[in-house]
Amino acid sequence: MPTQSIPYIYTRLSTAFGPQHWWPADSPFEVVLGAVLTQNTRWENVRMALDNLRGAGVLVPGAMASLEEAELQALIRPAGFFRQKSATLRRVLDVLVGEYGGSLEMFLAGETPTVRARLLNIKGVGPETADSILLYAGTHPIFVIDAYTRRICSRIGVCAPKAPYAELQHMFMHALPEDVQLYNEYHALLVELAKCCCTKNKPQCNACPLEDMCRQLHIPPFA
Ligand code: SF4
Repeated sequence: MPTQSIPYIYTRLSTAFGPQHWWPADSPFEVVLGAVLTQNTRWENVRMALDNLRGAGVLVPGAMASLEEAELQALIRPAGFFRQKSATLRRVLDVLVGEYGGSLEMFLAGETPTVRARLLNIKGVGPETADSILLYAGTHPIFVIDAYTRRICSRIGVCAPKAPYAELQHMFMHALPEDVQLYNEYHALLVELAKCCCTKNKPQCNACPLEDMCRQLHIPPFA
């Protein structure tokens, strides 16, 4: 399936699911935290960790940076991999608070490639995490590729199952106008499709709005 299908897929999903107005957290700082905490876990678990941090009154950079390591780990424990994630959060806070005075606005200010490089320079922050922060906390025009996007695109035939992150991102950004809202909405629609129909195991193809254009249906057995 050609990459020119990417705008068409958006239209089909938008027609099927309607506007998502999706925002994965309540504030830009929560987006940053959520982007790290959601690595290898479900958003429901991230939500519990964020609720813990909110309850402890540390959902601001300075307050969180002053937490003892054990305290931070205990608060984010519901998100899993809590030692690894607390170390990553600590490194993010070191830059955010140490170099930008806790100002997320300043931390995320600048040309998109520059800010992206700043984020990727932090150990534990990979492309998906960096791009989620850029798009959702910094309103930078960059398309986020996650496991849902890769699964749907490979099943439909837009990309190979193991297509590199950068390749898939380039395909989307090349096929779509540069538009933060559009990138946000498209990602939300893909998440919706992945949850309702294109699940990892036993996808509900009969209920899928893309059923008629999905290559996977013609390549059994299901992968
Ligand atoms: S038809 Fe099935 S495999 Fe294809 S995108 Fe829809 S749910 Fe996924």
